[in-house]
Amino acid sequence: MPFKALWITETGSGKFERNIVERYIDDLPAGEMVIRVHYSSLNYKDALSATGNKGITRKFPHTPGIDAAGVIEISRNERFAVGDEVLVTGYDLGMNTCGGFGQYIRVPASWVVKKPENYSLKDCMIIGTAGFTAACAVYKMELMKLQPEAGPIVVTGATGGVGSLAISILSKAGYEVIAVSGKSNAQDYVTHLGAVRLEPRDFVTDTSQKALLKPKWAGAIDTVGGNTLATLLKGCMPEGCVVSTGLVSSPKLDTTVYPFILNGINLLGVGSAETPMNVRVTIWEKLASQWHIKDKLPAIAREVTLDELNTTYIDNILQGNIMGRIVVNLN
Ligand code: NDP
Repeated sequence: MPFKALWITETGSGKFERNIVERYIDDLPAGEMVIRVHYSSLNYKDALSATGNKGITRKFPHTPGIDAAGVIEISRNERFAVGDEVLVTGYDLGMNTCGGFGQYIRVPASWVVKKPENYSLKDCMIIGTAGFTAACAVYKMELMKLQPEAGPIVVTGATGGVGSLAISILSKAGYEVIAVSGKSNAQDYVTHLGAVRLEPRDFVTDTSQKALLKPKWAGAIDTVGGNTLATLLKGCMPEGCVVSTGLVSSPKLDTTVYPFILNGINLLGVGSAETPMNVRVTIWEKLASQWHIKDKLPAIAREVTLDELNTTYIDNILQGNIMGRIVVNLN
């Protein structure tokens, strides 16, 4: 039986075309698990792959989609049975392995996580790579023993995917969250997710030559990079944690060693795609228990079809016009 998939083809002289086509399971790469995908979600990386970015996807034609949640149709691994509800985020899915923007994927069993019982397949994709990344950031802060009593945590890019989920998880974990956003009308949104207040991007932009600023936060989850990340380090309270997850403004970091050697600041990183399976399972267990955020998910998500993804949302995320998460219904 054919299935539907978004299909990116190179048309010559650096141009790429995307269409929804019919494909067959036999066309998919080798793997132990065939999964019928019910939901996927849109991440910035997917939009880059869908527009021919060879830093993400080396070979075209290709189906992007770094996130997928669905039901196992064929299993050649004893850990999983036909009919199990599962999810896959990261590894090579959607990069050089055909991904979640198709109704079927075939992947190694080592990439597959069982769906937590108290989330639906759709919930898992609202969380997806963005929420998993945010959860990895909170997990790393907690490994450094950062406690809610230490002070407020800043979340930058607050209305984006990682930012929205970071606010929700931090607030559920008991932290006071300051949301930093370029959208002055996002007050109600970030407050609903659990932030205590909204600040403009200037709050974390410092153009002075000072090595340190008056400390205002005990930690930060940063999606922005560049001057924002440098400012977060300068303005962090002693022994605080700043987690770098993204680069929406810049991949550069121009800083001094003073935040580290005078204030003992911990600069932590998250590379969610290659998170080892034992840590993945721990983090999904936390998302299903003390960081359970199901009540926040409806406000974060917009559900779209594969057609709408193709015609509208891939372009929107590239233009920075998305608030929250775009979930793709492949049913
Ligand atoms: P989104 O596009 O959903 O959100 C990004 C948000 O950043 C925007 O909504 C906006 O929020 C803010 N923003 C956009 N442009 C700028 C700018 N020039 N300066 C300051 N803020 C800006 O992206 P995601 O949340 O999914 O991803 C965020 C970053 O994290 C990306 O760089 C992505 O590549 C990275 N990422 C990293 C992962 C990892 O494993 N490390 C995994 C997933 C994503 P607002 O208007 O509220 O300020």
